[in-house]
This record gives sequence, C-alpha cells and structure tokens, in this order.
Amino acid sequence: MAVAEFKNEQTVEWTQPENEKLLREKIYEIQSQFSEHYPLIIGEDRIYSEKKIPSYNPSNHEQVVGYTSQATQQDIEKAIGVAWNTFESWRSKTFRERANYLFKAAEVFRKRKAELIAWHVMEAGKNWTESDGDINEAIDFLEIYGRKAMQMERDGDLIRQPGIDNNLEYLPLGVGVIIPPWNFPFAILTGMTAAAIVTGNTVLVKPSSLTSVIGSKFMEILDEINLPDGVVNFVPGSSREIGDFMVGHRDVNFISFTGSKEAGVHIDETAHKKVQEQRWIKRVISEMGGKDGIVVDESADLEAAAEAIVVSAFRFQGQKCSAGSRAIIHENIYEPLIDKIVSRTKQLTQGSPVDNNDMGPVIDRSSFTNISQYIESGKKESVLACGGGTDDSYGYFIEPTIFIDAPADSLIMKEEIFDPVLAISKVSSVKEGIEVFNNTEYGLTGSLFTQNRDHMEYARRHMVCGNLFFNGKCTGAVVGVQPFGGYYMSGTGAKTGSLDYLKHFVQSKTISEIL
Ligand code: GLU
Repeated sequence: MAVAEFKNEQTVEWTQPENEKLLREKIYEIQSQFSEHYPLIIGEDRIYSEKKIPSYNPSNHEQVVGYTSQATQQDIEKAIGVAWNTFESWRSKTFRERANYLFKAAEVFRKRKAELIAWHVMEAGKNWTESDGDINEAIDFLEIYGRKAMQMERDGDLIRQPGIDNNLEYLPLGVGVIIPPWNFPFAILTGMTAAAIVTGNTVLVKPSSLTSVIGSKFMEILDEINLPDGVVNFVPGSSREIGDFMVGHRDVNFISFTGSKEAGVHIDETAHKKVQEQRWIKRVISEMGGKDGIVVDESADLEAAAEAIVVSAFRFQGQKCSAGSRAIIHENIYEPLIDKIVSRTKQLTQGSPVDNNDMGPVIDRSSFTNISQYIESGKKESVLACGGGTDDSYGYFIEPTIFIDAPADSLIMKEEIFDPVLAISKVSSVKEGIEVFNNTEYGLTGSLFTQNRDHMEYARRHMVCGNLFFNGKCTGAVVGVQPFGGYYMSGTGAKTGSLDYLKHFVQSKTISEIL
C-alpha cells in the first residue's frame, strides 16, 4: 500500500468544552494508576526489581505518579545479549517493513493522545498545549522517519557506468544505547528510538528517572503494535550505576544521547576509550544544551519581538535546550521593548499544569535549587526587572524572572540554566549584538528581529547556531520543516526530523558487479 504524503500532526484545542472534559477525565482516571510499578523489559521478559525508582509530580512533590524497576549491571549485560540476538532477524527486514511498525505506533499515539497528555501534565509538569506539542512531535518523528527510511532501501545517487551493476546499501550499526532527556519525555525518546530501529539497529533505552513512567507508556505502545521482543529493551536506572557501564561496554556500537552538556561530554569521553577486545569505534550522536537568544535591531516590529521573546523564554518554564534565555536589544529601542516584555510577562499565569496555566513548576528539587542560586547571582550581576520569587512549599515553582542590563560576560548571559530566567543586554549595533550572541560555548538556536535584509544576510553568515530564525521565536522547530540540532557544545550536529539524521545510524556499503 502506498504511504500518504507526510503532514505535520495538528494541534488539538484542548480548551474547547468537549476536549477539555475528555482531558480532565483522563487526568482524573490516571490517578488511580499512581501506585503502579512498571517493569524492566528485556526481550520477552518483564522484570520487576525490588529496587524501584519513584517518579514525583513536580507540582506536588508529595505525590508519586508511579514506580519503575531499576536495572543493574547484570540486567544491562543480559539486555545487550538479547539485543544482539534479535539484531540478525531485525536487520534482515526491509526498511519498509520496519517503517510499518512506526506508522502503527503513530496511530496508537493518536488514539491515546488525551491519556498521554494527562501523563505529561502529572509527571513532567507540562501544561496542555506543551504536552499536546510533545505528543504531536513524537507522531511527526514516527511518520517522517518511516518515510525517510523507505528512501534508504537503495541509494539512487551513484554514477551509472556501462558494464557495472553498482549499488549502495545502508547497513545498521548494531546494538546501541538510547539516553533521552526528561524535558520532551515523549517526543525526543520516540524520535531517538524510532530513528535507531527503523534503520535496523536494536537498542537499550534508558529513560530519564524523572519521567520514567512516560517511558513505560511508550513501551506499552510498542507492545500494543507487536514490535518483536528484543528490538527495544527498556532499562531505567541510575546513571551512576549503569550509565558508564552501558556506554563503555565493548558490545555497544553507538550511543544516542540528548541532555546536558556535562553528561554529553562525559559520555563522549567514556564511549571513545577503547576497551579490551573492542572491534568497533563507537559512534556518539549527541544533542546537548544551548544558551539561545533573540537579537533585536531598531527596525524590528516591537510587538512581535516582545511576544517571541516571552514565548521563547518562558514556555515550559524555559526548560528547553532551544529556550531563548537571552534578549540582546539595540539601544534605540531598549526601554520601550523592555516595557513590552515585562508587561507581557506579568500577565502569565503560574500554577498547576492540571489547570493549563501558562507556566508550571520546574522539574525537581535539584533544578529548583540550582535556578535559585543563579537568580541570586543574577541579582549581583545585573538589575532585576521582574519576578525573582521562588516557592517550593508544594511544587517547584519559580516566577518568570527578567534581568536587564546584564553584562555580556555575566554568568546569566553565558551559562545554560534551563529555567524561566531571561537576561537582557543592551548593544549599539547588530554586529555587536551578534558578537554578544556568539559569546557562549553553545550553538543551538537563535533569532534576529529586523526589517533590514542586510542585517539578515549578516546574521546568516555570522550567527553561530544550528537553527536560525528571522522575525520569529527560537523554540518549537517543526519536524521536517526546520530539522533541529546544533554544534559547538550543543552537540554533534545531527539534524532531527531529516534523512540526514537517519544516516547517523547506518554505515554504507557499495556492491559492484562487473558485468
Ligand atoms: N526541538 C525543541 C524546540 O525546537 C527543543 C528540544 C530540546 O529542548 O531538547 O524547541
């Protein structure tokens, strides 16, 4: 059967009465499952360990939303063995056969959308809109990777020569480890896993402990579509106990990681240290942090710029590696634009994501403490224009916070904090603005607001980021439209949502028959 043309999944208006009713019912319904214990999944085995990882609701830190079993090094050893045993049969399927599993999973995601949103609200602290976006992005990844993989069946890009039957085949790498983050617990986990398996690899997935229940829901869906056992093995656990062990294991051929710069750099070092009898140079595909921002020149539409700055800085509490945690503004429009940014920020509602507030909690105590410290250092380095309040009495709430007159070299202008804190700097030209923008070790997303085409052209050549936007927000890259990923300390530059991304999970072989 022909596969329909790819279309991005559409947003559902959850505030419409009948949708809202359904969503609230699901939010209520899933609470009866909060005492559940989810197993490790290794091949056909469902293993309930005695040691369990509790996962908490960040809006109410007394409330556990579920428990997942915790893998040991022996479990990892076993999972690697099972993944290799499954590899032979999985790799011999066609790209199309494997893509079909992705398409089936997308159908189930659609059917279970309201329930999946409910889990995002309760475990990740995402409001309805952001949760909807997370699931839609997961569906998009499945649909696009399925289609792109089908193009890899044969590469038509070779020069034909008379007398030679020449082909290029894409072969999987083998067994890999997938380490996704908590901030897009569904979209990124799904995208990373789907890309690896559709290209014929088998994997171990270690979800973030902060969102491991959502990870278990993903596994439930793979069960529902009858994905063969052993293709995706599920091994939640503590990084300290199993992280280095998996990454450094002789029989793991690749690691796909999304998370912090510190963890990414550590994984890179561990993966590239050769161990005895290792026959393979491990491939590391990593997406790390960002210190993204928006530069605004004097010709810009100030209303549009203020809106984009607030959305980029504060949606999902700034916990996106694409978040616009800096605004770099031309001196001639500095004060009026700040007024607009501050007044929009003051209108944001904050509270439980159950009630779809604009802003919810940050993910856990350690983030809460870290951000609180950055706010204190921000107060010393620059001027607090709004927010700054924190409250962990019930959940981990941090007010949307804006610092102005931040020096280009201050911590809040250079370090990724992953938080609802926006630092604003004043500059006297676009050139200076872009210099300030580039003054970090990252290179992920950036935006320039201007009506001046020369400034756009200058930014195109000089702004260091993998995703550059003009006159728009710097978050929310759309699958297939803006393949996502950066360079420098933001990662290895694989662009998610594209054929280019899939090629990181294969090796190629040419086969020439002389006729
Ligand atoms: N792809 C997301 C965006 O464009 C960000 C992903 C992340 O935070 O890792 O906003």
